[in-house]
Formats: sequence, C-alpha cells, structure tokens
Amino acid sequence: MHHGIKKLLLLGGGHAHVHVLSRLAQQRPADLDITVVTPYPYQTYSGMVPGLVAGHYSETDCQIPLEPLIRAAGAKWVRARCSGIDAAGRRARLSPAGKSRSQDDILPPDLPYHLLSIDTGPVIDRQRLEEQIPGAADNALIVRPIEVFATLWPQVVEQAQERALSVAVIGAGAAGLELLFAAEQCLRTRGAAGARFTLITGGVEPAASYPAGLQARVLRRLKRLNITVLRDTCVGLAPGVVKLGSGSELACDVPLLAIGAHAPAWLQGSGLALSESGHVLVNEFQQSTSHPEVFAAGDVCARTDRPHPRNGVYAVRAGPPLADNLLAAHEGQPLKPHHPPANTLNLISCGAGHAIASWGPLHAEGGWVWRWKDHIDRAFMARYTLPTA
Ligand SMILES: Cc1cc2nc3c(=O)[nH]c(=O)nc-3n(C[C@H](O)[C@H](O)[C@H](O)COP(=O)(O)OP(=O)(O)OC[C@H]3O[C@@H](n4cnc5c(N)ncnc54)[C@H](O)[C@@H]3O)c2cc1C
Repeated sequence: MHHGIKKLLLLGGGHAHVHVLSRLAQQRPADLDITVVTPYPYQTYSGMVPGLVAGHYSETDCQIPLEPLIRAAGAKWVRARCSGIDAAGRRARLSPAGKSRSQDDILPPDLPYHLLSIDTGPVIDRQRLEEQIPGAADNALIVRPIEVFATLWPQVVEQAQERALSVAVIGAGAAGLELLFAAEQCLRTRGAAGARFTLITGGVEPAASYPAGLQARVLRRLKRLNITVLRDTCVGLAPGVVKLGSGSELACDVPLLAIGAHAPAWLQGSGLALSESGHVLVNEFQQSTSHPEVFAAGDVCARTDRPHPRNGVYAVRAGPPLADNLLAAHEGQPLKPHHPPANTLNLISCGAGHAIASWGPLHAEGGWVWRWKDHIDRAFMARYTLPTA
C-alpha cells in the first residue's frame, strides 16, 4: 500500500450505496482504495418484489447487478456479510455470504478501514422473532432476507397449482399489504380455484401508519377482493396453524410474515453510538454521532435530529448526500447537511395494474397510479443498471 492511500469500506449494496458507487465511477480520488462487502452480486429492489410475486416482473427485473457498478467505481468486491465492527480499531469483521466451504477458505477475517459507510438494510432477526412468535422460524415464509424470499415464492406458486391454498399474511404495513394483494392476484390467475386469503393486522387497522384516506382505500380494496381481515395478533405458528391472541386458531398453508424489521444484532458491541432500537445514530451529515469516520444510510440508521420512517424512499434520497459527504470527509472538506423530505409519495400496489397513492392529505387510486409507480421503479433500476460485459 502506497503512503497516503486511504481505505473506504462500503458495507452492503443498498439503495444509497448504489448511488455512491455510480458517483465514485465518475469521480474517484486517486488516493482512495474502495472495497464493497455484500453477500449477493445484485441488489434486490424491494419496491418491485410485490410485482414479482404478482407474476408481473421476473427476478432479474427486480435486481440491480452490483458487479458492473463496483467495477466502474474501481472498487473491489468481497462477497461476504459483515458480522461485527470494531469502531475503536477501525475494522469490520466478516462472515461467509453463504454456506459454501470454498468461500470460507478465502475470506479475510476482518477488513481495516479509514472511512466506513454502512447501508446493509433491515433484518428480521430469527431469534427475536421466535421469542415473539414461537414456531415462526420453522413455519413462516419470512419476507427478509428479501433475496431468499424472492427465490422461495415460486415454490408456493407451484403448490398452489396443485390445490387451493390458504394464505395468511401477518403484518399489515405497506410490505404486508402489497405482498397480500400480489399473492391474491397471482394465485387467482395461476393457482387452483378456491384459494383463501387472510390478513392478520396485529390488532391495528391495515396501513395504520398511513393517512386516513389511504387507509380507507386499502380497506375497500381488501373487502372487494374478499380478503378476511383479522385485527388480532399472531402469537404462535405450528405446521398448518396460525395461533391468535384471541385464543382461536386459523388453518393456514402459507403464513407469510412481513413484520418487525430489526437493526442487525452485529452492531451491538461495535462501540458505535446506537439508538434504543439498536440502529446506528447519525447526525445531519449521515455521520455517526460517536465516530466521525463512520457514515450510515437507509434502514440501518436513525437520524438524531430528524427522525423519519424507515423505507426505501428515504434510503434512496440519502444516496447523493452520502456520496458527497464521503468524498468531502476523504478530502477534509466541510460536510453538507442532508434534509430528508417531510412528506413522501406513498404508493401501495394492489397487484400489478392497480395502486393507491397518498401525498400528505391527498390520495388517489387506479390503473394510472400503478403505471406511475411502475415508471418510477423502472427508471430507478435503469439508472443504476450498467451493461454486465
Ligand atoms: C415487499 C417489500 C416491499 C417494499 N416496498 C417499498 C416501497 O414500495 N417503497 C419504499 O419506500 N419502501 C419499500 N419497502 C421498504 C424497503 O425495502 C426498505 O426500506 C429498503 O430496502 C431499505 O433500503 P436499505 O438501502 O436500507 O437496505 P436494503 O435495500 O435492504 O439493502 C441492503 C443491502 O445490504 C446487503 N446486506 C445485508 N446484510 C449485510 C451484511 N451483514 N453485510 C454486508 N451486506 C449486507 C443486502 O444484500 C443488500 O444489498 C418494501 C419492503 C418490502 C419487504
């Protein structure tokens, strides 16, 4: 290593990091050595996963190939997962991306850095989930890791072609609702007749964190599609059975779990300042409040000055300011504050072809809303999809 060369380590190929990579492709300081640690050669764009479930998009439609972006940025790819950070020693610990032995052999145990950026997204922690819903780890189809979920869904479709399935979606936030609508559309058109669908909300109204107008539209849609809504809590899962807080049980072939995204457990003990929920605390520059050489964006972090919801829109918006600030930090220049938007456009797809939108108090729905969402999603993908050759 030449004197003066600095190591920039990017953890995760998430929504903000794809932008950081494309920016580094245009403007890479000669004295910056860049490594990306991420387990898959692609970034799955969650916004299009409901369309994949509906049968409208293919798997590759929903994936941004990361290798071309990494290559264009002049960076190295280490195919692994980060499994710990030693913020005081400025090192990130690695574990294998998958179960393959050959990967274990070549993986360095940890990587040093001068500058670190974390965009590894949310996780559903199997251990915490199991404490909350005994049986979930063995019996549920869990939405995260989304890369795994995307490969398991076709198996459900196969089963659904042989007999009518009963599907219960647990979790009535945007992800749960979109997946429910998508699953209903897919099995109605491609599965055996007579499939049944239930939404288990956890005791609240569907889309509870959204404006009333959007909620009312979601309820109407659920009713129109004959989807049963149970304002009850799932307290356990066993083969073929969902156990409910009210004491009753629901027969179910496919319990699809879309609740409770957590901060990764591996941040504990890193020495980084964390929020109560375990997310990396960052300031207006997306910079760790405890370690100025560490930055974070997306669902893995929490802004101290302006807390905002964790979703893909905010993760995408953080990309450009994160890239600016990583370059500024490297060059010892002043950092620029990032102002997350107060209002975002909420788009909930109801299967392919129909979607509900809200912006502040305004709301609307229709085929045109869906085409609008499809356009936004495809434009995002096109922006970061470079030729693979
Ligand atoms: C079905 C579904 C639909 C959704 N639809 C929308 C929507 O329409 N609009 C919206 O705003 N939000 C939506 N969301 C929420 C959205 O998915 C998240 O808020 C968003 O993905 C967060 O982006 P991120 O960059 O933080 O993380 P991610 O997109 O999760 O990216 C994290 C990256 O890091 C990698 N990684 C993970 N762990 C490690 C590790 N330990 N080490 C190294 N790399 C790692 C992953 O492979 C991935 O490449 C949806 C979620 C789901 C489940």
